[in-house]
Amino acid sequence: MTATISELAAIQRIEQDYQLPLYAKREIALVRGEGAYLFDSEGRRYLDAMSNYGVAVLGHADPAFVAAVTDQLRTLSTGHQSFYSDVRAALLQALTEIAPPRLTRAFLANSGAEAIEAALKFARVATGRPKIVAAKRAYHGRTLGALAATADPKYRAPFEPLPFGVTHVPFDDANALAAAVDEETAAVILEPIQGEAGVYAASDAYLRAVRDLTAQRGALFIADEVQTAFRVGAPFAVGQAGVTPDILCTAKALANGFPIGLTLVTEAVSAAVPAGSHGSTFGGNPLACRAALVTLTALRERDLYARSADLGAEIRERVAGLGSPKVRQVRGRGLMIGIELKERVTPTLRALQTRGVLALPAGALTLRLLPPLVWQREQVDELLAALSDVLA
Ligand SMILES: *Cc1c(COP(=O)(O)O)cnc(C)c1O
Repeated sequence: MTATISELAAIQRIEQDYQLPLYAKREIALVRGEGAYLFDSEGRRYLDAMSNYGVAVLGHADPAFVAAVTDQLRTLSTGHQSFYSDVRAALLQALTEIAPPRLTRAFLANSGAEAIEAALKFARVATGRPKIVAAKRAYHGRTLGALAATADPKYRAPFEPLPFGVTHVPFDDANALAAAVDEETAAVILEPIQGEAGVYAASDAYLRAVRDLTAQRGALFIADEVQTAFRVGAPFAVGQAGVTPDILCTAKALANGFPIGLTLVTEAVSAAVPAGSHGSTFGGNPLACRAALVTLTALRERDLYARSADLGAEIRERVAGLGSPKVRQVRGRGLMIGIELKERVTPTLRALQTRGVLALPAGALTLRLLPPLVWQREQVDELLAALSDVLA
């Protein structure tokens, strides 16, 4: 039935020979997923504590997700936004229930970087200003515009010059921001909790200061919630701080693994974007919309926002309670967790993988957990048992 390659050595060789060598590969080939677990080509089972960088919020092969996406595949899978769509309309309606107040217009694309790219373009056209202010250590994706806002020289340097001048200011520092935003600034773009950098949350006071300062100076506030959305104990982290940005981007978890990107904007921003000036062939297709719709429904009906908050608090407390001499600090919110070590994180990630747990780095020192939100106590116990071994 499936035309795949079964032998691990062959899989590795073909990928090594025919892909650009961009990724540091983790040896195993993942071939199947079920709920909180992944299986490799050799039949080994892994506890998934990364859900593909926070994507698979409902876990793998969730029956309701599979049924909805399969049904949509049988009905209509592709369709352009120049036609109306029943499924797209249903998704847009569902989004109105969770979107922060005033963010009443949506642009649909296919990835996080595309959602950011759209946000940067919309901010420019809405303000008539060219510049962007972002944070040091920020990660916003790797298309050229998003890359200009991303801070890490590892991603930037090979591709310079980047399309427009972005100033990077220290994160969570309202004075530094005030010094950087001027009459040429189109927008300030920020992750409410910096993910790739190491899981650093901005204070609520800072987010409110960003809101006030941008409003005073005629600039827009873009919240990059590509990673934070849906897993921090609420649909959006900015909502928890009581702040509404002018533009909010999300992607990763929104359709539980089906590629999608979403840029939410105010009526004022929407009104400034000329008709026909931006778009996407795949964006807003019925299959992606159905995948997002079933994901949002499951998050609400299964009470996964509250579950993320509770399980996340429990994990942080129990990790801190291990009293490991290797751990410097445990951070995060909901099921977005950073465990900063006093040493480089790679050997710990390797040891976890050998012990059957897949986790992520965030920066050089931080172990990052972005598990599916459908974890139960059993998975938390399994994680803690592995962590207590590898951090001993
Ligand atoms: C992953 C990520 C992006 C980029 O999303 P892609 O889908 O990989 O393009 C942008 N911003 C943040 C905060 C992210 O975590």
